Amino acid sequence: MTAERQLTTVTRRSKEEPANVALIVQKYGGTSVGDIDRIKNVARRCIAAQAAGNDVVVVVSAMSGETNRLLKLVSQITERPSEREQDVVVATGEQVSIGLVAMAIHAQGGEATSFLGHQVQIVTDSTFSKARIKRIDAEKIVEALKQKHIVVVAGFQGQDEQGNVTTLGRGGSDTTAVALAAALKADACEIYTDVDGVYTTDPNVCPPARKLNRISYEEMLELASLGAKVLQIRSVEFAMKYKVPLWVKSSFSDDPGTLVCEEDKSMENVVVSGIAYDKNEAKIAISGVPDVPGVAAKIFGALDSQNIVVDLIVQTASKDGRTDLSFTVGKTDLAKARETVETVAREVKAGGVETDGDVAKVSIVGVGMRNHSGVAAKMFQLLASEGINIQLISTSEIKVSCLIHSKYTELAVRTLHTAFGLDKPPAAS
Ligand code: ASP
Ligand code: MG
Repeated sequence: MTAERQLTTVTRRSKEEPANVALIVQKYGGTSVGDIDRIKNVARRCIAAQAAGNDVVVVVSAMSGETNRLLKLVSQITERPSEREQDVVVATGEQVSIGLVAMAIHAQGGEATSFLGHQVQIVTDSTFSKARIKRIDAEKIVEALKQKHIVVVAGFQGQDEQGNVTTLGRGGSDTTAVALAAALKADACEIYTDVDGVYTTDPNVCPPARKLNRISYEEMLELASLGAKVLQIRSVEFAMKYKVPLWVKSSFSDDPGTLVCEEDKSMENVVVSGIAYDKNEAKIAISGVPDVPGVAAKIFGALDSQNIVVDLIVQTASKDGRTDLSFTVGKTDLAKARETVETVAREVKAGGVETDGDVAKVSIVGVGMRNHSGVAAKMFQLLASEGINIQLISTSEIKVSCLIHSKYTELAVRTLHTAFGLDKPPAAS
């Protein structure tokens, strides 16, 4: 796990302050601040949270579509932008949002102050476009909270030790919110989005999908990395490391949402908690790979040196001193990966290289798998009974993933959802 380290925390309450004041960090994503009416809605919610007796820190993203628009401007200048300058450009989306949200709060009679990442000292490393938070010196936030201001912080951005503007990767405002919640020892971190929580699977693909009341950090981490896009993965790692209770809620309803929290006994009774699918991977197959030590290291080493992340890997049994090697990479990396692999394949005198983009990875996730056997076998049987061929498999303690033809994605998800009992709420235990 690579959650950021050494987060300095500050004492936020003076001794005389009543202990029943809770500190809440709320994060509103791009759709929640997508237009002026929505920004006014966010302001109303922040004021209501404060009126309910809380100290409120709000983290906001850029208005929906804005970060993409900025990236497009960059791409119109050059295909290979300076990463430092690109961050200077894309970090601006959040600046507009925080100013507008703070003003909307003022307009409704509240007190608010906005801060950019560097103003509240969100210090990151220098990996532009995917920087990691190293520490937060939240003194200014604490000061403003003492004045009973709602504090509005720009998500997604920070500064490195040299003072350069950095950004935290797409969806990075989630991580800003969780990191602030950890640094401020907040009582809760609420991520407001356009869905009312974390679902057993994507309701667009599988209508019986249900909203989960609770899910463990570990399951959420798997679901997020398997393509369920509710939370940035790094924010979940952070929440898990610092035990921040994380709520996923809708900014358009009053539904209590889903709590992402530590695992407890009752979660183990549910074998499969969620099903994810991902159509963003492609398969590469190398045939006739010489079965001698060092060949796999060479192939995957070459991919790694191009920063290409490899996911599922399968090697067939050796026949006449040769094996077939198949694996998946992100679709956007496919062309580069193919080139790299073809070069190595020639060097090691392997046979041909073939690629297939019509694949989907379908995964079942659940902490209950740790103490239930036969879960993977059941998944394979279910897919087989629908005539779905499994191309690659990978498992972890709490997950089984199968790569299948993409045209069967919906059928696979629905079949698994029903067979693993997710169509109905679990019996109370
Ligand atoms: N605005 C950034 C993005 O679109 C960060 C975020 O939304 O969390 O990726
Ligand atoms: Mg977002």
